[in-house]
Amino acid sequence: MTKTYRIAMIPGDGIGKEVIPQGQCVLQALAQKTRRAQFEFESFDWGGDYYRKHGVMMPDSGVQTLKSFDAILFGSAGDPDIPDHITLWGLRLKICQGLDQYANVRPTRILRGIDAPLKRCGPEDLDWVIVRENTEGEYAGVGGRVHQGHPIEVATDVSMMTRAGVTRILRYAFELARSRPRKQLTVVTKSNAQRHAMVMWDEIANEVAKDFPDVTWDKELVDAATARMVNKPRSIDTLVASNLHADILSDLAAALAGSLGIAPTGNLDPERRYPSMFEPIHGSAFDIMGKGLANPIGTFWSAVMMLEHLGEQEMADRLMAAIEAVTADRSNHTRDLGGAATTEAVTAAVLRALDV
Ligand code: ATP
Ligand code: MG
Repeated sequence: MTKTYRIAMIPGDGIGKEVIPQGQCVLQALAQKTRRAQFEFESFDWGGDYYRKHGVMMPDSGVQTLKSFDAILFGSAGDPDIPDHITLWGLRLKICQGLDQYANVRPTRILRGIDAPLKRCGPEDLDWVIVRENTEGEYAGVGGRVHQGHPIEVATDVSMMTRAGVTRILRYAFELARSRPRKQLTVVTKSNAQRHAMVMWDEIANEVAKDFPDVTWDKELVDAATARMVNKPRSIDTLVASNLHADILSDLAAALAGSLGIAPTGNLDPERRYPSMFEPIHGSAFDIMGKGLANPIGTFWSAVMMLEHLGEQEMADRLMAAIEAVTADRSNHTRDLGGAATTEAVTAAVLRALDV
C-alpha cells in the first residue's frame, strides 16, 4: 500500500499564485512516476483577496484546519494595497506561531549552471544550512508606542528571548550540524552590543554544546558573519541565529547563491506535533506577476524539503536531481538568472527531467 499524504496549499498573493500550482503539478508527476506515495491536495484562498472580502487574511479557524494535514506548501503573502504588518502577521506568522514551527531552515547551495555573484566561488565553496529561530526574539511582537505623533513619542520593539526557546533552537541546530558530513556549526549573535538576551544565547550555546562533542562549533558576531559569508564561504557549514539576524543572513545567502527565485525554506516543528510548512523564500513580487517571469525553482526545492521531512528521501533525491539537470542547461533559466525561459517552460523541463 502506498502512503497518501494530505498537503494543504496556500498560494497566497502575487507570484505565489503562479508558482504553487507548478509545485503541485511536479509533485503529482513525481508520485505517478515513482509510485512511492500519493498526494491529496487541498487549496486555501487565504491572503490579500481574502482580506478584501472578509477583513482578515485567513479565518480564525484556519490554524486549527491546518492541523489535520501532513504538510503545508505556502506561496507568499504580500499585497501592494494592504500594509505589510497585516499581510505578514495575519497569515504567515500566524501559522508559524500557531503550529509552533520554531525552526526555519534554509539550505543554500549554488546549483549547477547558476552564475553566482561571488568570483571564484563554485558549488564546492558554498554549501550552507541557515537555521533561524522562528517564533520569538526580535519578531515576538512585544513593544509599543506612547504619545503617538507628539515630540515626546517613545516606541519600543522588545527582543524577547526565553531560555526554553533559545535552548530548543540551538539543540535543533547542533543536531542538524551533526547530521551533515562536516559536523560543523557557527552560532551567530551580537552579544557585544546586545547585552542581555544575546549573552544568554552564548551561555546556552556553551551548555548545549557539551551534549555534542562530535560537532565542531564556533561563535561569530552577526556583522562579522556577513563578511565571512562573502570572504570565506567555505568556512561555514551550518549556521544558527536569532529571528532577525538569520532573516537578514539568509537573504544574503540566497543572493550569493544566485537568485531569490531559487531559494527554499522549511518552517519546521522538529517534534512533529503539527504539520511543517514549506515555501520559496521570495515574496509576492507584484512587479513580475502575470508575465510568466516567476522562477518556480524555489517552490520545487521547497517541495524537496517537504519530501525529506515526510521521510520520502528517494522521491526528494529524484526531484532534486531533476532540478539540477534543469538549472545546468541555461536555456531553462528565467529572467532573474539572466535567461528568457517562462515559468511554465521551467516546469515542463523539470517534468521531462523526471522521466530520465
Ligand atoms: P513581498 O513584499 O511579498 O516581499 P516583493 O515585491 O518585495 O514581495 P520579493 O519577492 O521580495 O518581492 O522579491 C524582490 C524582487 O526579486 C521582485 O520584485 C522580483 O523582481 C524578484 N523576484 C523575486 N522572486 C522571484 C522569482 N521567483 N522569479 C523571478 N524573480 C523574482
Ligand atoms: Mg520582499
